[in-house]
Amino acid sequence: MNDAFYDTVIIGAGMVGSALASLLSRSGFSVALVEAREPQSFDAEADVGLRVSAVSPGSAAVLNQAGAWKSISAQRCRPYRRMQVEDGVELEPLLFDAPVFHLERLGTIIENTLVQWCLWQAVSTGGMVDVYCPDGLADIEFGPDKNRVKLSSGKFLTADLVVGADGAASRVRKVIGIRQDYRAYNQHGLVAVVGKQKPNPGVAWQRFMPGGPLAFLPLADGRSSIVWTRPSIEAERLLALDGDAFLAELDTASSGWLGRVEDCGPRAAFPLSMRLSESYAAQRTVLIGDAAHVVHPLAGQGVNLGFADAAALTEALIGARLAHRDIGSVGVLQRYDRWRRAESEAMAFGMHALRSLFDGDGLFPLRRLGLALVKRSWAVKDLFLQRAAGLGKQAPKLATGATLQDLMCG
Ligand SMILES: Cc1cc2nc3c(=O)[nH]c(=O)nc-3n(C[C@H](O)[C@H](O)[C@H](O)COP(=O)(O)OP(=O)(O)OC[C@H]3O[C@@H](n4cnc5c(N)ncnc54)[C@H](O)[C@@H]3O)c2cc1C
Repeated sequence: MNDAFYDTVIIGAGMVGSALASLLSRSGFSVALVEAREPQSFDAEADVGLRVSAVSPGSAAVLNQAGAWKSISAQRCRPYRRMQVEDGVELEPLLFDAPVFHLERLGTIIENTLVQWCLWQAVSTGGMVDVYCPDGLADIEFGPDKNRVKLSSGKFLTADLVVGADGAASRVRKVIGIRQDYRAYNQHGLVAVVGKQKPNPGVAWQRFMPGGPLAFLPLADGRSSIVWTRPSIEAERLLALDGDAFLAELDTASSGWLGRVEDCGPRAAFPLSMRLSESYAAQRTVLIGDAAHVVHPLAGQGVNLGFADAAALTEALIGARLAHRDIGSVGVLQRYDRWRRAESEAMAFGMHALRSLFDGDGLFPLRRLGLALVKRSWAVKDLFLQRAAGLGKQAPKLATGATLQDLMCG
C-alpha cells in the first residue's frame, strides 16, 4: 500500500488534538488527524452533559483562531466573572472579580461535547485536514528525515512530525518510550448537574474541605455543574447513595451557598492523578494535552494547558517554516519542550501543593496563612489570575490575541 505524505500526523482528536489540527491546517501545513472514535454530536435538546470545562480567556482566543469559538459561544455556555474560594470553617471567602483584573470574564463553562463537536466540525468539514476515523495508531517507524506511522487499518502515513494528542494513556508516548512521573491521588472527582434553591449568578464557587474541594460551576440555565473531590472509597459510597441521601450530603457540604440543593441529575466519578512526562519531544514526535501532562482538576486547568500546548506548537512550527527550518528538527522541538514543560510543571506542582495544603486538618494554620497572604496581596492574586486566565508571561501569542495571520507574517 502507498504511503500518504503530510507535514504532521496527529494521533487523537480530543479537544486538544482537534484544536491543533485546525490551527496547523489554517496555517498552511498539511495535516492527517487519526481518531479511534467519532465524537458524539452535540445535542442542544438533550440535558447538559456531565463533563464540562472552565475555559480560560486565553483558550477562548486559541479556539477562535481554530475556527470554533463562534459556534461554541453561540450555544449554551456560561461566562463567569467571579470566583469565590472558601474553606467552610472560618475564613472569609476569597473573591476574584474579573473587572478588578481588567478582564471581561474569568472564563466560560462549556460542555466538553460542545467544544469537541465544534472543533470536529471545523476540521472535518473544511476539507483541509485528512481525517482517519475510526482508526488508531499501530506503530511508528522513526527515521532521520521522516517518521512513518502505521495505522490499525494497515494504512501508512509519512510525516515530518508526529503529534501524540491521544490522552493520559497515550500510546504515542509508550511507543516512543517517554517515562512519566505518575502520582495517583487516591481521590475521585464526582461530577453531576445540580439545581439549588437560588440560581447560580455566574460565580465559580469552590469550598476546600478535608478530603478535597467541592466546586459549583455556573451553567447557562442557572444550575451548576459540580466537581466534588473525595477520597476514592468515599466517592464510591456517594455514587451508591440513593438520590435523596446524596442531596442531603451535598446540601451539608455546600451549606450557606445559594440555599438548599433541590435537584441532581446522574452522577459519575473519575480517578484523579498527576502525570508529568519527563520530556515532551523526541525523534520527530511531540506530546500535547493529557498525553504530556495530567493535573489535578481543582483549578480547572487541564484542557487549558492543552490548548496552550497546541498554540505554542503552532507558533514554533510557523516560526520554523518562516526560518526555512525542518519542523521536526531537534532545535524546533526542544523549544516547544522547554517552554511547555516549564509551564505545565509549575501548574501541576502548584495544584499538588494546594491540594496537600487542604487535604487534612493538621496544616490548618499554614492553610490560613496561605489564604490570608493571597487575600492581602494584590500582586499574588494578579499572578494567580493571569496564569489561570491563560495570559501569563509565558502564554503563547495566540492566547493573548495574536492571529495566525500575525504569526505567519513574522
Ligand atoms: C473531573 C474532571 C474535571 C475537569 N475539569 C476541567 C476544567 O474545568 N478545565 C480544564 O481545563 N480541564 C478540566 N479537566 C481536564 C480535562 O478534561 C482534560 O485535560 C482534557 O479532556 C484532555 O483533553 P485531550 O484532548 O488532551 O485528551 P482526551 O480528551 O483524552 O482525548 C484523547 C483522544 O485521543 C483518542 N485516542 C486515544 N488513543 C488513540 C489511539 N491509539 N489512536 C487514535 N486515537 C486515540 C481518544 O479517543 C480521544 O478522542 C477535568 C478533568 C476531570 C477528570
